[in-house]
Amino acid sequence: LRPAAPARKLDVVRGPLVHVLATLLLAANLPAPSGAATLAPAERRAVSAIDGALSGALELLERLVNQNSGTLDTAGVAAVARMLAPELESLGFRSEWRDGRTWGRAGHLLAFRRGARARHALLLIGHLDTVFELDSPFQRLERLPDGRWRGPGVCDMKGGDVEMLLVVRALRAASVLERFDVRIVLNGDEERTGRPTALARADLLAAAAGCELAIGFEDGAGDPAQAVVARRGAQGWRLRTAGHAAHSSQIFREGVGAGAVYEAARILEAFRDTLASEPHLTCNAGLVLGGSRASLEGDGARGSAAGKTNVVPESTVVTGDLRALTDEQFERARATMTRIVSRHLPGTDAAIEFEEAFPPLAPGPGHDELLTRFDAASRALGLGPVAATNPDDAGAADISFVGGIVPRALDGVGLAGSGGHSAHETGDPAVLGTNAKRVAVMLIRYDGGAEAR
Ligand SMILES: [Zn+2]
Repeated sequence: LRPAAPARKLDVVRGPLVHVLATLLLAANLPAPSGAATLAPAERRAVSAIDGALSGALELLERLVNQNSGTLDTAGVAAVARMLAPELESLGFRSEWRDGRTWGRAGHLLAFRRGARARHALLLIGHLDTVFELDSPFQRLERLPDGRWRGPGVCDMKGGDVEMLLVVRALRAASVLERFDVRIVLNGDEERTGRPTALARADLLAAAAGCELAIGFEDGAGDPAQAVVARRGAQGWRLRTAGHAAHSSQIFREGVGAGAVYEAARILEAFRDTLASEPHLTCNAGLVLGGSRASLEGDGARGSAAGKTNVVPESTVVTGDLRALTDEQFERARATMTRIVSRHLPGTDAAIEFEEAFPPLAPGPGHDELLTRFDAASRALGLGPVAATNPDDAGAADISFVGGIVPRALDGVGLAGSGGHSAHETGDPAVLGTNAKRVAVMLIRYDGGAEAR
Protein backbone atom coordinates (compact mmCIF):
# COMPACT_ATOMS: atom_id res chain seq x y z
CA LEU A 1 0.00 0.00 0.00
CA ARG A 2 1.39 3.37 -0.93
CA PRO A 3 -0.53 6.34 0.43
CA ALA A 4 0.01 8.72 -2.42
CA ALA A 5 -0.59 12.41 -2.02
CA PRO A 6 1.80 13.75 0.62
CA ALA A 7 4.79 11.73 -0.45
CA ARG A 8 4.34 12.75 -4.07
CA LYS A 9 4.01 16.37 -3.16
CA LEU A 10 7.47 16.14 -1.67
CA ASP A 11 8.79 14.36 -4.70
CA VAL A 12 7.79 17.16 -7.03
CA VAL A 13 9.95 19.76 -5.35
CA ARG A 14 13.46 18.55 -5.73
CA GLY A 15 17.02 19.67 -5.41
CA PRO A 16 18.25 23.01 -4.17
CA LEU A 17 14.91 24.73 -4.86
CA VAL A 18 13.29 23.35 -1.74
CA HIS A 19 16.15 24.62 0.40
CA VAL A 20 16.01 28.05 -1.17
CA LEU A 21 12.28 28.13 -0.42
CA ALA A 22 12.83 26.98 3.15
CA THR A 23 15.48 29.63 3.67
CA LEU A 24 13.25 32.32 2.18
CA LEU A 25 10.35 31.31 4.42
CA LEU A 26 12.59 31.46 7.46
CA ALA A 27 14.14 34.76 6.46
CA ALA A 28 10.78 36.38 5.81
CA ASN A 29 9.43 34.92 9.07
CA LEU A 30 6.42 33.65 7.17
CA PRO A 31 4.15 31.03 8.67
CA ALA A 32 5.40 27.50 8.10
CA PRO A 33 3.78 25.41 5.31
CA SER A 34 0.41 23.72 5.55
CA GLY A 35 -0.20 21.40 8.48
CA ALA A 36 2.23 23.23 10.72
CA ALA A 37 -0.68 25.09 12.27
CA THR A 38 -1.27 22.01 14.43
CA LEU A 39 2.25 22.20 15.84
CA ALA A 40 3.06 23.53 19.29
CA PRO A 41 5.73 26.24 19.62
CA ALA A 42 8.40 23.76 20.77
CA GLU A 43 7.60 21.56 17.79
CA ARG A 44 7.90 24.51 15.46
CA ARG A 45 11.29 25.32 16.92
CA ALA A 46 12.33 21.72 16.21
CA VAL A 47 11.21 22.01 12.58
CA SER A 48 13.05 25.32 12.14
CA ALA A 49 16.21 23.86 13.65
CA ILE A 50 16.14 21.02 11.10
CA ASP A 51 15.47 23.37 8.18
CA GLY A 52 18.29 25.63 9.35
CA ALA A 53 20.73 22.71 9.56
CA LEU A 54 19.89 21.14 6.20
CA SER A 55 22.63 22.62 4.04
CA GLY A 56 25.28 21.55 6.56
CA ALA A 57 23.67 18.11 6.78
CA LEU A 58 23.78 17.69 3.00
CA GLU A 59 27.43 18.69 2.95
CA LEU A 60 28.19 16.14 5.67
CA LEU A 61 26.25 13.44 3.79
CA GLU A 62 28.27 14.08 0.66
CA ARG A 63 31.55 13.79 2.58
CA LEU A 64 30.38 10.58 4.26
CA VAL A 65 29.31 8.98 0.97
CA ASN A 66 32.62 9.85 -0.69
CA GLN A 67 34.53 8.06 2.07
CA ASN A 68 34.50 4.34 1.32
CA SER A 69 33.34 2.26 4.27
CA GLY A 70 32.78 -1.23 2.91
CA THR A 71 32.45 -3.47 5.97
CA LEU A 72 35.89 -5.03 5.43
CA ASP A 73 37.56 -1.65 4.73
CA THR A 74 38.38 -1.19 8.39
CA ALA A 75 40.30 2.06 7.83
CA GLY A 76 37.35 3.47 5.86
CA VAL A 77 34.80 2.51 8.52
CA ALA A 78 36.98 4.15 11.18
CA ALA A 79 37.30 7.26 8.99
CA VAL A 80 33.50 7.56 8.82
CA ALA A 81 33.39 7.26 12.61
CA ARG A 82 35.97 10.05 12.88
CA MET A 83 33.70 12.28 10.74
CA LEU A 84 30.65 11.60 12.91
CA ALA A 85 32.25 11.71 16.36
CA PRO A 86 32.86 15.51 16.38
CA GLU A 87 29.27 16.08 15.21
CA LEU A 88 28.02 14.09 18.20
CA GLU A 89 30.45 15.76 20.59
CA SER A 90 29.26 19.18 19.43
CA LEU A 91 25.74 18.12 20.46
CA GLY A 92 26.98 17.32 23.96
CA PHE A 93 27.60 13.58 23.54
CA ARG A 94 30.51 11.63 24.94
CA SER A 95 31.65 9.42 22.07
CA GLU A 96 33.63 6.17 22.26
CA TRP A 97 35.29 4.12 19.54
CA ARG A 98 35.08 0.38 20.19
CA ASP A 99 37.80 -1.47 18.34
CA GLY A 100 36.33 -4.51 16.56
CA ARG A 101 39.41 -6.71 16.23
CA THR A 102 37.97 -9.37 18.52
CA TRP A 103 34.97 -9.85 16.20
CA GLY A 104 36.98 -9.40 13.00
CA ARG A 105 35.63 -6.00 11.94
CA ALA A 106 36.56 -2.32 12.21
CA GLY A 107 34.54 -1.47 15.32
CA HIS A 108 31.58 0.62 16.46
CA LEU A 109 31.05 4.27 17.32
CA LEU A 110 29.06 4.74 20.54
CA ALA A 111 27.79 8.03 21.92
CA PHE A 112 25.99 8.83 25.15
CA ARG A 113 24.24 11.89 26.48
CA ARG A 114 22.22 11.70 29.66
CA GLY A 115 19.94 14.71 29.97
CA ALA A 116 19.85 16.63 33.25
CA ARG A 117 16.20 15.65 33.76
CA ALA A 118 16.35 12.30 31.93
CA ARG A 119 13.14 10.31 32.25
CA HIS A 120 13.23 8.16 29.12
CA ALA A 121 16.14 6.08 27.85
CA LEU A 122 16.24 6.30 24.07
CA LEU A 123 18.37 4.12 21.77
CA LEU A 124 19.20 5.46 18.30
CA ILE A 125 20.66 2.92 15.88
CA GLY A 126 22.71 3.51 12.74
CA HIS A 127 25.64 1.95 10.93
CA LEU A 128 28.91 3.18 9.49
CA ASP A 129 29.53 0.51 6.87
CA THR A 130 28.19 -0.15 3.37
CA VAL A 131 28.21 -3.21 1.11
CA PHE A 132 30.61 -1.48 -1.30
CA GLU A 133 34.16 -2.60 -0.60
CA LEU A 134 37.28 -0.85 -1.93
CA ASP A 135 37.27 -3.00 -5.08
CA SER A 136 33.76 -1.85 -6.02
CA PRO A 137 33.61 0.64 -8.91
CA PHE A 138 30.83 2.46 -7.00
CA GLN A 139 32.73 4.94 -4.82
CA ARG A 140 31.51 8.50 -5.34
CA LEU A 141 28.38 10.58 -4.99
CA GLU A 142 26.82 11.65 -8.26
CA ARG A 143 24.10 14.27 -8.73
CA LEU A 144 21.44 13.01 -11.13
CA PRO A 145 19.65 15.39 -13.53
CA ASP A 146 16.36 14.95 -11.59
CA GLY A 147 17.98 16.24 -8.40
CA ARG A 148 18.45 12.89 -6.70
CA TRP A 149 21.80 11.70 -5.38
CA ARG A 150 23.31 8.38 -6.37
CA GLY A 151 26.12 7.02 -4.25
CA PRO A 152 27.32 4.18 -2.02
CA GLY A 153 25.49 4.40 1.29
CA VAL A 154 23.48 7.49 0.39
CA CYS A 155 20.35 5.88 1.87
CA ASP A 156 21.79 2.67 3.39
CA MET A 157 22.50 4.37 5.60
CA LYS A 158 24.65 7.45 5.75
CA GLY A 159 21.54 9.49 4.98
CA GLY A 160 19.90 7.91 8.03
CA ASP A 161 22.91 8.68 10.23
CA VAL A 162 22.58 12.32 9.19
CA GLU A 163 18.82 12.26 9.92
CA MET A 164 19.68 11.00 13.41
CA LEU A 165 21.95 14.01 14.03
CA LEU A 166 19.14 16.30 12.85
CA VAL A 167 16.74 14.70 15.35
CA VAL A 168 19.09 15.40 18.26
CA ARG A 169 19.58 18.97 17.09
CA ALA A 170 15.80 19.42 16.88
CA LEU A 171 15.22 18.03 20.37
CA ARG A 172 17.78 20.47 21.70
CA ALA A 173 16.08 23.39 19.92
CA ALA A 174 12.74 22.29 21.39
CA SER A 175 14.31 22.25 24.87
CA VAL A 176 13.39 18.59 25.46
CA LEU A 177 16.79 16.94 24.98
CA GLU A 178 17.42 17.09 28.75
CA ARG A 179 14.48 14.75 29.30
CA PHE A 180 16.16 11.88 27.47
CA ASP A 181 18.99 9.53 28.22
CA VAL A 182 20.14 9.22 24.61
CA ARG A 183 22.35 6.28 23.62
CA ILE A 184 23.62 6.11 20.06
CA VAL A 185 25.08 2.97 18.50
CA LEU A 186 26.62 3.21 15.03
CA ASN A 187 27.77 -0.30 14.19
CA GLY A 188 30.68 -0.82 11.82
CA ASP A 189 29.51 -4.21 10.60
CA GLU A 190 25.77 -4.10 9.92
CA GLU A 191 26.15 -5.43 6.39
CA ARG A 192 28.41 -8.34 7.43
CA THR A 193 28.07 -8.94 11.14
CA GLY A 194 31.34 -9.84 12.83
CA ARG A 195 31.71 -13.23 14.53
CA PRO A 196 31.01 -14.30 17.13
CA THR A 197 27.77 -12.34 16.99
CA ALA A 198 27.61 -12.26 20.80
CA LEU A 199 30.78 -10.12 20.86
CA ALA A 200 29.91 -8.07 17.76
CA ARG A 201 26.54 -7.06 19.22
CA ALA A 202 27.51 -6.82 22.91
CA ASP A 203 27.71 -3.00 22.82
CA LEU A 204 24.32 -2.72 21.11
CA LEU A 205 22.70 -5.01 23.69
CA ALA A 206 24.36 -3.17 26.58
CA ALA A 207 23.12 0.17 25.26
CA ALA A 208 19.61 -1.25 24.81
CA ALA A 209 19.33 -2.46 28.38
CA GLY A 210 16.74 -0.38 30.20
CA CYS A 211 15.72 1.61 27.10
CA GLU A 212 12.10 2.53 26.65
CA LEU A 213 12.41 3.32 22.96
CA ALA A 214 14.62 2.21 20.08
CA ILE A 215 14.69 3.97 16.72
CA GLY A 216 16.57 2.66 13.69
CA PHE A 217 17.42 5.02 10.85
CA GLU A 218 17.68 2.42 8.09
CA ASP A 219 16.06 3.30 4.77
CA GLY A 220 13.30 0.70 5.09
CA ALA A 221 11.21 -0.05 2.03
CA GLY A 222 12.22 3.19 0.31
CA ASP A 223 8.77 4.71 0.70
CA PRO A 224 8.57 7.78 2.96
CA ALA A 225 4.95 6.89 3.72
CA GLN A 226 6.09 3.68 5.43
CA ALA A 227 8.06 2.71 8.53
CA VAL A 228 9.21 -0.67 9.82
CA VAL A 229 7.81 -2.31 12.97
CA ALA A 230 8.60 -5.93 12.06
CA ARG A 231 11.43 -7.60 10.19
CA ARG A 232 12.05 -11.21 9.42
CA GLY A 233 15.20 -12.87 10.71
CA ALA A 234 17.43 -15.10 8.59
CA GLN A 235 19.28 -18.32 9.23
CA GLY A 236 21.53 -20.34 6.95
CA TRP A 237 21.30 -24.11 6.68
CA ARG A 238 23.44 -26.86 5.18
CA LEU A 239 22.08 -30.22 4.09
CA ARG A 240 24.24 -33.25 3.32
CA THR A 241 22.99 -36.53 1.92
CA ALA A 242 24.81 -39.82 1.37
CA GLY A 243 24.18 -42.88 -0.81
CA HIS A 244 25.90 -46.14 -1.75
CA ALA A 245 28.17 -46.10 -4.81
CA ALA A 246 27.10 -48.75 -7.34
CA HIS A 247 26.59 -49.24 -11.06
CA SER A 248 23.61 -47.20 -12.21
CA SER A 249 21.97 -50.36 -13.54
CA GLN A 250 21.45 -51.48 -9.90
CA ILE A 251 19.85 -48.26 -8.56
CA PHE A 252 16.71 -48.74 -6.43
CA ARG A 253 17.58 -52.43 -5.86
CA GLU A 254 17.88 -53.74 -2.34
CA GLY A 255 21.34 -53.07 -0.93
CA VAL A 256 21.92 -50.13 -3.33
CA GLY A 257 19.02 -47.78 -2.77
CA ALA A 258 18.17 -44.41 -4.33
CA GLY A 259 21.51 -42.62 -4.15
CA ALA A 260 22.40 -39.28 -2.60
CA VAL A 261 20.90 -37.07 -5.31
CA TYR A 262 17.38 -38.56 -5.14
CA GLU A 263 17.52 -38.24 -1.36
CA ALA A 264 18.40 -34.53 -1.67
CA ALA A 265 15.64 -34.08 -4.25
CA ARG A 266 13.11 -35.75 -1.95
CA ILE A 267 14.06 -33.47 0.91
CA LEU A 268 14.00 -30.26 -1.13
CA GLU A 269 10.64 -31.08 -2.66
CA ALA A 270 9.23 -31.82 0.79
CA PHE A 271 10.61 -28.48 2.11
CA ARG A 272 8.82 -26.68 -0.71
CA ASP A 273 5.65 -28.65 -0.30
CA THR A 274 5.47 -28.16 3.48
CA LEU A 275 6.84 -24.66 4.01
CA ALA A 276 5.98 -22.63 0.91
CA SER A 277 2.46 -21.68 1.92
CA GLU A 278 3.17 -20.45 5.46
CA PRO A 279 2.89 -16.64 5.76
CA HIS A 280 6.19 -14.77 6.29
CA LEU A 281 8.22 -17.98 6.08
CA THR A 282 10.62 -18.66 3.23
CA CYS A 283 13.04 -21.50 2.71
CA ASN A 284 15.46 -21.09 -0.17
CA ALA A 285 17.88 -23.65 -1.58
CA GLY A 286 20.74 -21.55 -2.96
CA LEU A 287 23.44 -23.99 -4.03
CA VAL A 288 23.34 -27.71 -4.81
CA LEU A 289 26.33 -29.95 -5.48
CA GLY A 290 26.00 -33.70 -5.95
CA GLY A 291 27.65 -36.74 -7.48
CA SER A 292 30.25 -39.34 -6.59
CA ARG A 293 31.81 -36.55 -4.58
CA ALA A 294 30.67 -33.04 -3.73
CA SER A 295 32.33 -30.43 -1.56
CA LEU A 296 31.91 -26.81 -0.64
CA GLU A 297 34.91 -24.54 -0.86
CA GLY A 298 36.09 -21.34 0.76
CA ASP A 299 33.25 -19.31 2.27
CA GLY A 300 30.70 -21.92 1.18
CA ALA A 301 29.41 -19.88 -1.77
CA ARG A 302 31.12 -22.23 -4.25
CA GLY A 303 32.34 -25.77 -4.49
CA SER A 304 32.97 -28.70 -6.79
CA ALA A 305 31.31 -31.96 -7.71
CA ALA A 306 32.12 -34.92 -9.91
CA GLY A 307 29.97 -37.85 -11.02
CA LYS A 308 29.21 -40.13 -13.91
CA THR A 309 25.90 -40.90 -15.60
CA ASN A 310 26.34 -44.59 -14.89
CA VAL A 311 27.30 -44.35 -11.20
CA VAL A 312 24.85 -44.07 -8.27
CA PRO A 313 25.91 -40.85 -6.48
CA GLU A 314 27.39 -40.99 -2.99
CA SER A 315 27.27 -37.42 -1.87
CA THR A 316 25.21 -34.22 -2.06
CA VAL A 317 25.55 -30.89 -0.30
CA VAL A 318 22.92 -28.14 -0.39
CA THR A 319 23.07 -24.68 1.21
CA GLY A 320 20.15 -22.37 1.71
CA ASP A 321 18.46 -19.93 4.04
CA LEU A 322 15.36 -19.74 6.14
CA ARG A 323 13.50 -16.50 6.95
CA ALA A 324 10.84 -16.16 9.63
CA LEU A 325 9.03 -13.45 11.57
CA THR A 326 9.32 -14.81 15.10
CA ASP A 327 11.63 -17.09 17.07
CA GLU A 328 8.73 -19.46 17.48
CA GLN A 329 8.19 -19.62 13.70
CA PHE A 330 11.90 -20.36 13.28
CA GLU A 331 11.69 -23.16 15.81
CA ARG A 332 8.68 -24.75 14.15
CA ALA A 333 10.28 -24.54 10.68
CA ARG A 334 13.53 -26.07 11.93
CA ALA A 335 11.61 -28.91 13.56
CA THR A 336 9.66 -29.56 10.34
CA MET A 337 12.82 -29.55 8.24
CA THR A 338 14.67 -31.84 10.64
CA ARG A 339 11.73 -34.27 10.57
CA ILE A 340 11.68 -34.28 6.76
CA VAL A 341 15.43 -34.87 6.60
CA SER A 342 15.26 -37.84 8.98
CA ARG A 343 12.88 -39.96 6.87
CA HIS A 344 15.42 -41.24 4.25
CA LEU A 345 14.90 -43.08 1.00
CA PRO A 346 16.20 -46.68 1.00
CA GLY A 347 19.98 -46.91 1.16
CA THR A 348 20.54 -43.23 1.96
CA ASP A 349 21.36 -40.99 4.88
CA ALA A 350 20.96 -37.25 5.43
CA ALA A 351 21.69 -34.57 8.01
CA ILE A 352 20.96 -30.87 8.28
CA GLU A 353 22.81 -28.18 10.23
CA PHE A 354 21.54 -24.70 11.01
CA GLU A 355 23.87 -21.71 11.31
CA GLU A 356 23.64 -18.93 13.88
CA ALA A 357 20.46 -16.94 13.20
CA PHE A 358 20.11 -13.23 12.53
CA PRO A 359 17.11 -12.59 14.79
CA PRO A 360 13.74 -11.26 13.61
CA LEU A 361 12.15 -8.03 14.82
CA ALA A 362 8.98 -9.81 15.90
CA PRO A 363 5.77 -7.78 15.86
CA GLY A 364 4.73 -6.34 19.21
CA PRO A 365 2.11 -3.97 20.62
CA GLY A 366 4.78 -1.45 21.73
CA HIS A 367 6.23 -1.25 18.21
CA ASP A 368 2.73 -0.66 16.82
CA GLU A 369 2.12 2.00 19.44
CA LEU A 370 5.28 3.83 18.39
CA LEU A 371 4.20 3.70 14.76
CA THR A 372 0.85 5.22 15.74
CA ARG A 373 2.73 8.08 17.42
CA PHE A 374 5.01 8.45 14.39
CA ASP A 375 2.00 8.55 12.07
CA ALA A 376 0.32 11.21 14.23
CA ALA A 377 3.49 13.33 14.18
CA SER A 378 3.68 13.01 10.41
CA ARG A 379 0.06 14.14 9.99
CA ALA A 380 0.59 17.07 12.35
CA LEU A 381 3.54 18.14 10.20
CA GLY A 382 1.35 18.02 7.09
CA LEU A 383 3.44 15.10 5.80
CA GLY A 384 0.59 12.61 5.50
CA PRO A 385 -0.02 9.21 7.06
CA VAL A 386 2.63 6.56 7.64
CA ALA A 387 1.82 2.85 7.45
CA ALA A 388 3.76 -0.26 8.43
CA THR A 389 6.03 -1.83 5.83
CA ASN A 390 5.13 -5.42 5.05
CA PRO A 391 7.77 -7.38 7.01
CA ASP A 392 8.26 -9.61 3.96
CA ASP A 393 9.65 -6.55 2.14
CA ALA A 394 12.06 -5.49 4.88
CA GLY A 395 15.52 -7.07 5.05
CA ALA A 396 17.37 -7.89 8.23
CA ALA A 397 18.79 -5.01 10.31
CA ASP A 398 20.46 -4.36 13.64
CA ILE A 399 17.28 -3.20 15.39
CA SER A 400 16.22 -6.86 15.36
CA PHE A 401 18.83 -7.61 18.04
CA VAL A 402 17.04 -5.31 20.50
CA GLY A 403 13.42 -5.93 19.52
CA GLY A 404 12.98 -8.38 22.38
CA ILE A 405 14.63 -6.05 24.93
CA VAL A 406 13.22 -2.61 24.14
CA PRO A 407 9.43 -2.47 24.41
CA ARG A 408 8.95 0.12 21.63
CA ALA A 409 10.98 -0.16 18.43
CA LEU A 410 10.62 1.63 15.12
CA ASP A 411 12.91 1.37 12.10
CA GLY A 412 13.14 2.47 8.49
CA VAL A 413 13.00 6.17 9.31
CA GLY A 414 16.21 7.16 7.53
CA LEU A 415 16.54 8.84 4.16
CA ALA A 416 14.20 6.99 1.82
CA GLY A 417 15.79 5.77 -1.36
CA SER A 418 15.95 2.98 -3.89
CA GLY A 419 18.42 0.52 -5.35
CA GLY A 420 20.14 -0.26 -2.04
CA HIS A 421 23.01 -2.78 -2.19
CA SER A 422 23.48 -2.01 -5.91
CA ALA A 423 25.26 0.64 -7.97
CA HIS A 424 21.82 2.22 -8.41
CA GLU A 425 21.55 3.24 -4.76
CA THR A 426 19.79 6.58 -4.93
CA GLY A 427 18.35 8.96 -2.36
CA ASP A 428 16.49 12.23 -2.62
CA PRO A 429 18.28 15.10 -0.85
CA ALA A 430 15.06 17.13 -1.06
CA VAL A 431 13.48 14.87 1.59
CA LEU A 432 16.48 14.84 3.95
CA GLY A 433 15.06 16.14 7.21
CA THR A 434 11.52 14.87 6.57
CA ASN A 435 11.88 11.81 8.77
CA ALA A 436 13.97 13.78 11.28
CA LYS A 437 11.00 16.13 11.72
CA ARG A 438 8.59 13.24 12.19
CA VAL A 439 10.84 11.54 14.76
CA ALA A 440 11.53 14.82 16.58
CA VAL A 441 7.83 15.75 16.87
CA MET A 442 7.01 12.19 17.95
CA LEU A 443 9.65 12.37 20.71
CA ILE A 444 8.59 15.85 21.84
CA ARG A 445 5.05 14.51 22.22
CA TYR A 446 6.25 11.26 23.78
CA ASP A 447 7.59 13.29 26.65
CA GLY A 448 4.12 14.64 27.43
CA GLY A 449 3.46 17.15 24.69
CA ALA A 450 1.48 19.55 26.86
CA GLU A 451 4.53 20.31 28.98
CA ALA A 452 6.69 20.91 25.97
CA ARG A 453 4.31 23.58 24.76
ZN1 LIG B 1 21.58 -0.65 6.28
